[in-house]
Amino acid sequence: MLSFSIFVLLLKPDKLKNIDLEIINRIKKLVQKRGQNFVLVPHVNPDGDAIGSTVGLACILENAGHKCTVVVPNDYPAFYNWLIGFATVLNFDRNKGAAKKAISSADTIFCLDFNEIERTGKLKDVVSEFTKTKILVDHHPYPKDFCDYLISDTSYSSTAELIFDLAVQLGLKKNITIEAANALFTGIMTDTGSFSHNISNPNTFKVVSELISLGIDTETIHSNVYHNYSADRMKLLGYCLNEKMVVYPELRTAYISLSKQELEKFNFAPGDAEGFVNYPLSIQGIVFTALFMEKDDHVKISFRSKGSFPANAFSSEHFNGGGHLNAAGGESELSFAETIEKFKSLLPEYKKQLLEN
Ligand code: 5GP
Ligand code: MN
Repeated sequence: MLSFSIFVLLLKPDKLKNIDLEIINRIKKLVQKRGQNFVLVPHVNPDGDAIGSTVGLACILENAGHKCTVVVPNDYPAFYNWLIGFATVLNFDRNKGAAKKAISSADTIFCLDFNEIERTGKLKDVVSEFTKTKILVDHHPYPKDFCDYLISDTSYSSTAELIFDLAVQLGLKKNITIEAANALFTGIMTDTGSFSHNISNPNTFKVVSELISLGIDTETIHSNVYHNYSADRMKLLGYCLNEKMVVYPELRTAYISLSKQELEKFNFAPGDAEGFVNYPLSIQGIVFTALFMEKDDHVKISFRSKGSFPANAFSSEHFNGGGHLNAAGGESELSFAETIEKFKSLLPEYKKQLLEN
């Protein structure tokens, strides 16, 4: 039976060219049967690519005659609210009953923009217990084996870019409407830091060109995401850079830390710290940065690096996390102060790697 077969597919860079036709045909058959019930799940603390790729694929599949529900594990930044209107979106943290019901009545779950089941946060058990077909579409390295179909390619800037090529391969290009294009462009734009990193593959711009041809207004999308912050968020950024940034030039590292109390003082809302970890990376000579945020029961950490310094390996070895080479995240169960101490005490071990980068 389909759901008991494990198909692993590591796509080659050039537009799904080396895709095993058998796998594509199986997914194609699934989407050609009209009236399927699909649930699309992004990772916990969804970012622009997680929201953009789930909402984008939901629009495409709805246009192809299916019922789609996006189930997000928890809150997303308010500056993605304008995208949420394009699809049916349930928040598991706020509406467990409806989210569980949607998942239990689904025929297939699409897992988008993550590479291991733990990244679904509190949705983990519900997704694990789902016994019908699960399809993973993602661009993170080292995908774990938790879905029936694995479509994974690290050469893609974003899951949203990969979704576009996959939709074309599935014969759904005609179903990519302007709503889907808005969502997919948002995913590509945010995962590339507005086209400043992960853009060495020309395919990214080919896909963007196709999306623009569909009539999207890129300036409005940019403005919806990046010119939609609260005054508190801007003040928090100023506070971070002026008072909370610690720079170790001799280790080419810098970090920012925000306690619960500090976050509360600035009325912190999801997404308010998005991008903060990137700022110290623009200091001359700095190749590794971290942002620590104290949450109720853990410390959330973001890491960024330049060149060959592996932020993902550092995070998975010491902070229970992972991600991309230059952009990773993790968590710590230690106290806030102990977490920062641990980070600082690890840095000398990495001095050679940090300096030769
Ligand atoms: P961010 O720092 O923006 O939250 O995440 C940066 C990258 O690291 C993203 O690709 C994200 O999916 C990944 N990431 C963030 N937090 C975690 C985590 O706790 N575990 C893992 N495995 N990846 C993470
Ligand atoms: Mn992504």
